Amino acid sequence: MDKIFIPLHEELRKIRHVVMDMDGTIYHGNKLFPTTLPFLERLKKLGIGFTFLTNNSSRSTDVYLEHLHRFGIHVPRECMLSSTGNTVDYLQRHHPGIRRLFLLGTDSFRAEMRASGFTDCSMEEEPELVVTAFDTSLLYERLCKCAWWIKHGKPWIATHCDLECPTEKPTTLIDCGSVTACLEAVSGRKPVVMGKPNRTMMETIFHRYSLMPEEVVMCGDRAYTDIQLAVNSGTFSAMIVSESQSKTGIPADSTPPGIVRPVPTWVIPHLEKLGEALSESRD
Ligand SMILES: [Mg+2]
Repeated sequence: MDKIFIPLHEELRKIRHVVMDMDGTIYHGNKLFPTTLPFLERLKKLGIGFTFLTNNSSRSTDVYLEHLHRFGIHVPRECMLSSTGNTVDYLQRHHPGIRRLFLLGTDSFRAEMRASGFTDCSMEEEPELVVTAFDTSLLYERLCKCAWWIKHGKPWIATHCDLECPTEKPTTLIDCGSVTACLEAVSGRKPVVMGKPNRTMMETIFHRYSLMPEEVVMCGDRAYTDIQLAVNSGTFSAMIVSESQSKTGIPADSTPPGIVRPVPTWVIPHLEKLGEALSESRD
């Protein structure tokens, strides 16, 4: 990959909204990338909207907004879309009558669902629908009850399909997709999945801002989730590959074996590369 960025001004001129993955795209862990704040400033000046996207449903939208706040990124709630927020939006648009949910997730996930107007059913109450999330406080009894309702035909939503959550600690963080696989095995059913790379995640953003797919660019560091989301929803995509990775010619990324790596529209070393091209396309 000699030339890692070939701006297409015709396409870039149409962009009205930038969707960004978070970890690995705007920051890494507790370190904000130096290009993030200048890029966001540039977007504001150009009148281009943006949304931060995360699959992680173990933390609430408020926790993410606080995290961004600590980096000096002060944005309103609607600039943030987690797979939990997307589940709420999906339920409101596709199942407006449903209120009573059995929720397999953390306290902060369940609190966000309650704050969005849903009833968090107890072990004794019959739900209308089941939602499974990334539950870092997973209890065997609740998992069993969840399986029971799924086996009894309740509609079932999973917030996302990540099998594990990356960590630097010597352990494997079992994520929503692995718990979903367990529930699929015992029930013989499959859920409707909300998070990246499913297009429902992008449809929520299209709907929020009345956008056409060709007016959006999805930026991320993972091909099989971030770039695949762009492919599934028809938007442009920019894959962040650091300079050192790009020298090998192949973006280093964790696409699991057997999954075809989607091709991004652009490969960029950092967000400001895209920012400069967006500015140039408007000159
Ligand atoms: Mg990422």
